Amino acid sequence: STQIRLRERPVGEPSADTFETTTVDLPELEDGQVLLRVDHLSLDPYMRGRLSDAESYADPVDVGALMVGGTVGTVLDSRHPGLAEGDEVLSYSGWQTHAVEDGSAVRRLDTSTNPATTALGVLGMPGFTAYAGLLQIGRPQPGETVVVAAAMGPVGSAVGQIAKLKGARAVGIAGGPDKARALTEDFGFDVGLDHRADDFREQLAAAVPDGIDVYFENVAGPVLDAVRRHLNLYARIPVCGLVANYNATAAPEGPDKMPGFLGQILTKSLTVRGFIQSEFVKEHYKDFLREMGQWVADGDVRYREDVVEGLDRAAEAFAGMLRGANTGKLLVKVS
Ligand code: NDP
Repeated sequence: STQIRLRERPVGEPSADTFETTTVDLPELEDGQVLLRVDHLSLDPYMRGRLSDAESYADPVDVGALMVGGTVGTVLDSRHPGLAEGDEVLSYSGWQTHAVEDGSAVRRLDTSTNPATTALGVLGMPGFTAYAGLLQIGRPQPGETVVVAAAMGPVGSAVGQIAKLKGARAVGIAGGPDKARALTEDFGFDVGLDHRADDFREQLAAAVPDGIDVYFENVAGPVLDAVRRHLNLYARIPVCGLVANYNATAAPEGPDKMPGFLGQILTKSLTVRGFIQSEFVKEHYKDFLREMGQWVADGDVRYREDVVEGLDRAAEAFAGMLRGANTGKLLVKVS
């Protein structure tokens, strides 16, 4: 198997020196195991956290170890009774071309209605993050206004579309005019805004005349600062991700805004609730697969994939995602 391993922990943005490529022989299959060919690797923002040894909800990848990641692949050989050669499966095989996995650690995919790659995006972890975070914490009501940034990505695009299905208004924020336009044209947001536009703050104010009831937090940074001025009494803020900070090496310049925000939490009776999607899996994953699967099959929830060819381009694509170079769910076509 060709593998990409962590060479050194990056300071700031990951670079060419962060990773190294090696080739290893895989072990012979034991009873209960399968040999997989990795077809697609998912690249996700959380991987930036795994490159760092700062304390987090999950352990970092060790220096010298294989990079972790969600994958879909094809069974090449099986010694597991429930899996046969040719099956398409979801696994957590990481940045490599082939893998030996315990059959119990992979899930066979039904690809009759949706392609296998959706199990890494709209019908996988990112889609579930949107579904659980928005419905369990955001709880949008008909007529309310929901705002989400990183809105072209797999989490944000699903947040906006589910908000619409629940009868709310959806305002999406993304980087650049093309993405902003695609939010309304391709994903049905009521408004799409470019957070890099000079007059972003004025555009946002015009887009939320009745204020904001749910701000699904994916990014933090200047977007949060602009959004928070418009939060309504009893607004809910599911805190899902802070991608604007992931490569940061120092606290932002300028006055400390925390006292002001805490004051707002108090006087506006805001609910600010962080979450890691895994906490909702046990209770809600089955409903998600059924409900979201139906929405996707009916075309009520659409998705976009951004597929990069070749494992050797994974590192560059990953660094690009943290700057907004991706348009849609970022995947690497491995083989
Ligand atoms: P995306 O595909 O949306 O990629 C991240 C996007 O963030 C970029 O494309 C870029 O889009 C945007 N971005 C980067 N820097 C900034 C910035 N400074 N200001 C505004 N936007 C920025 O990723 P996902 O949909 O996979 O993930 C979205 C968020 O959800 C992330 O924060 C991620 O960590 C979080 N997440 C949390 C989970 C949980 O359990 N809590 C689980 C899964 C994801 P643009 O061009 O629009 O700026």
